Amino acid sequence: MRRFALRHADAGARAIKMTHVAVIGGGYAGMAAAATLAEQRVPVTVFEAAGQLGGRARRVDYRDVALDNGLHILIGAYVETLRLIELVNPAHAQALLRLPLAWHVQDEFHLRAARLPAPLHLLIGLLRADGLSIAEKVSAARFLAALRATRFTLAQDISVELLLKQHSQSEKLRRVLWRPLCVAALNTPPAGASAQVFLNVLRDSLDAGRAASDLVLARVDLSALFPDPAATFVEQRGGKVLRSQRVTAIDPLAAGFEITANNQRASFSHVICAISPHQVNAFLIGITALSEIATTIERLLYQPIHSVWLQYPAPVKLPSPMLGLTRGLVHWVFDRETLCGQRGLVGAVISAAGEHQDLTQEELGLRVHRELQEQVGALPDPLWTRVIAEKRATFACTPGVRRPPQITPLGNFYLAGDYTASDYPATIESAVRSGITCAQHILQHA
Ligand SMILES: Cc1cc2nc3c(=O)[nH]c(=O)nc-3n(C[C@H](O)[C@H](O)[C@H](O)COP(=O)(O)OP(=O)(O)OC[C@H]3O[C@@H](n4cnc5c(N)ncnc54)[C@H](O)[C@@H]3O)c2cc1C
Repeated sequence: MRRFALRHADAGARAIKMTHVAVIGGGYAGMAAAATLAEQRVPVTVFEAAGQLGGRARRVDYRDVALDNGLHILIGAYVETLRLIELVNPAHAQALLRLPLAWHVQDEFHLRAARLPAPLHLLIGLLRADGLSIAEKVSAARFLAALRATRFTLAQDISVELLLKQHSQSEKLRRVLWRPLCVAALNTPPAGASAQVFLNVLRDSLDAGRAASDLVLARVDLSALFPDPAATFVEQRGGKVLRSQRVTAIDPLAAGFEITANNQRASFSHVICAISPHQVNAFLIGITALSEIATTIERLLYQPIHSVWLQYPAPVKLPSPMLGLTRGLVHWVFDRETLCGQRGLVGAVISAAGEHQDLTQEELGLRVHRELQEQVGALPDPLWTRVIAEKRATFACTPGVRRPPQITPLGNFYLAGDYTASDYPATIESAVRSGITCAQHILQHA
């Protein structure tokens, strides 16, 4: 399993005097780091093992249709992601659809934020929502008020389920509001999810300015949204973005590092290792300075996400571009025709572990089609279905979960990625922020 190695210092190796940063991994974390360095004209080279940039948030071409590895939801609180998209993507205004918070769970619950300043936008939206009793609306508002009084901070982390129980949230509130929110944000079912991280998300989305709670949906594929334009941005500023270049060794030198990729070696002053957590330890194990970090990463558990794509022969119009479902396997369904102009294409998301993992891809495609027919309306048979199963989509965001820091005890060696220390769960925003943190540390100390 441990094929790759971060090998120990070659005492005779030459010192790297000039700053030249190697970024390993061209996902959102790596490209955020590279763009931040390139903006300040710091020489940077990105090594990406795949032919496509974006990592877990990348385009997947199938039968001449641009799918995404996973359907993604961004929110207005993703301030760093949105700032960097604006910086590097000249077509950012057309690439994103920004909608005031609307929570539609088919036939069960509809909430639309009011056009008022926060927190009234949410309070009034909740009071006007369809599908909850007055008592449930008051109970949800009280819950948010109680969290606010404690500044969204718990003395000790517990599970989301226990938190909801402590605040007497009804079965319906949990089913149509809190559970979908928890699973969408933390990709971890409430029984095992960190209440503190959940509160951080509520604080920054529902309790911040009105724009923070906006839903932000991509109108282009996820590689085209940020990583591809970020690569152009980096290259225009003298950096390099090398695709299909898998790094197989990182050797610390007397000063700096030697990177081996595709049997070629090159030296760098700094390394930002921005690969996913289940792959990174192959480089860290055996380095004394990094042994504690390697142990922390080793202890992380993972949760899957299944994306099910259905191509229908005729246009399909869903009631909203993103619709919640609660009566089957599917959690969210996206209308790619409305979002991206892809005729008859629908994408469904099933977060976290569950019985769907026992089905074959064909069975799962058919099951999702049937669920859509039952819950959304009559649909013709799909031309094809495609299941993309990410077994380790994110780390399991459990109470008190320990995450490694970006700035490591090994000088000039950094870790970026959604799993590194953050207030946020494993999301695009935590990935982007981690990349920026690494880049800024280099800018301040180089
Ligand atoms: C199906 C799915 C749905 C999701 N939905 C959402 C959502 O709705 N909202 C949200 O905010 N987040 C969502 N996420 C999480 C989000 O995709 C991740 O948090 C984010 O993409 C992680 O980015 P990263 O750069 O940290 O890691 P990655 O995307 O894993 O990037 C790591 C990169 O390193 C490369 N690499 C690995 N080994 C090497 C090597 N040896 N040499 C060179 N390169 C290497 C990989 O090819 C990859 O490109 C979802 C994730 C999945 C899988």
